[in-house]
Amino acid sequence: MTRRFNKVLIANRGEIALRIIRACRQLGIKTVAVYSSADKDSGHLRLADEQICIGPAPAKDSYLNTAAILGAADLARVDAIHPGYGFLAENADFAQQVVESGFHFIGPEADTIRLMGDKVSAIAAMKAAGVPTVPGSDGLLGEDEARSLEVAARIGYPLIIKATAGGGGKGMRVAEDEAGLLGAIALTRQEAEAAFGNDGVYLEKYLTRPRHIEVQVLCDHLGHCISLGERDCSLQRAQQKVIESAPAPGLTHEQRQQISQSCIKACQTIGYRGAGTLEFLYQDGEFYFMEMNTRIQVEHTITEMVTGVDLLAQQLLVAQGAPLALQEPLIQPQGHAIECRINAEDPISFAPSPGRIDRLVVPAGLGVRWESHLSPGACVPPQYDAMISKLITWGDDRAQAIARMRTALDELVITGIKTNVPLLKALLDDPKVRQGETSIHYLEDTFLPGK
Ligand code: ADP
Repeated sequence: MTRRFNKVLIANRGEIALRIIRACRQLGIKTVAVYSSADKDSGHLRLADEQICIGPAPAKDSYLNTAAILGAADLARVDAIHPGYGFLAENADFAQQVVESGFHFIGPEADTIRLMGDKVSAIAAMKAAGVPTVPGSDGLLGEDEARSLEVAARIGYPLIIKATAGGGGKGMRVAEDEAGLLGAIALTRQEAEAAFGNDGVYLEKYLTRPRHIEVQVLCDHLGHCISLGERDCSLQRAQQKVIESAPAPGLTHEQRQQISQSCIKACQTIGYRGAGTLEFLYQDGEFYFMEMNTRIQVEHTITEMVTGVDLLAQQLLVAQGAPLALQEPLIQPQGHAIECRINAEDPISFAPSPGRIDRLVVPAGLGVRWESHLSPGACVPPQYDAMISKLITWGDDRAQAIARMRTALDELVITGIKTNVPLLKALLDDPKVRQGETSIHYLEDTFLPGK
């Protein structure tokens, strides 16, 4: 049942919209870019075959406006919709509506997105499929406080209370001991009800110094599934990734094989289709499943650099119903790649810094990749995410990838707005960061103490 997409609508903006346009063009697929009035002059629009304005600047009226996006898809007579990341990418109802409106959704089935979108059901499904999970309450907590205290004592303190509907780092709280547990549960319930309209919470053992390691998978509709290896995304601020590396430093070949095999098996069990990422916490040699992202991720680029696989093209091909052409269950990485997320923000206060870009000098050279829709004179609108570009370098080993990144950051000139480039440089000059294997707390503890 292989089909060929003639035209794809990109329900996103910025660098990922451009990345999708490039992949489509290379496969001979026409593209329709949709945009909000705030993005009307965005550089990537001219690379799309058609451009349709879907509403005013606020995301809820444009990039989250399902009716406007489906209307544009109808008007342009596209075959499929690519959601990118963020916005509607992990909205199961949107995926369902896309299909019910007669288009292909470039991603997994709506039911898979739903299953992975709820943390409790995602953990249960992964545990049943043999993926290692964090010791926890194995399901939602009931109203019985004595029972909650009992479950907590079995898991052991410190604990983390999490909202099953939570996301984006919201709806979680750490309880250090029994005295604080019941109050913390009540607070998290209230917050979850207010933020997500669902007060379901569960408990997990709190890992004190984990790394964030994630596995990239790719599956076709025939149940063929491969792993493209792992990435380390432990350098984070406020739960947001700042620098990512592939492969994850310090893992043995056996560990790599084992976690990848377990992810492949799980994806086959849940009938996964398309590109996806299983995120783990990693501590003392053990992996603990956290969540699965059912979409392409920001940092897919570093996996591309070490595997040579064009993940966006593969995503499009499997969405067209093609069987995966890649046979190896685990693609072996070549060399090392790192990605720096360039944000329009004050490097000290982290306040967003939207505005007009005055000068822009983009780094280049062997092993240097720049992913961005920006051009000199472009405006960074205040309404959306602060991430405006990604700088990626590849090297024979981590030291060379970092040396190339450090040189590239020195070459980069962005004026008119503030960026986090000074922080990125400081991070790459830090001996522990250069070595790798730092925990998710390292950036904040070392570079932002007291924040
Ligand atoms: P969200 O969906 O909101 O991103 P996650 O479940 O992915 O929530 O967790 C977000 C972050 O919280 C993780 O990246 C990690 O830093 C921290 N975290 C989550 N679970 C644990 C845990 N069991 N122990 C320690 N830290 C955790």
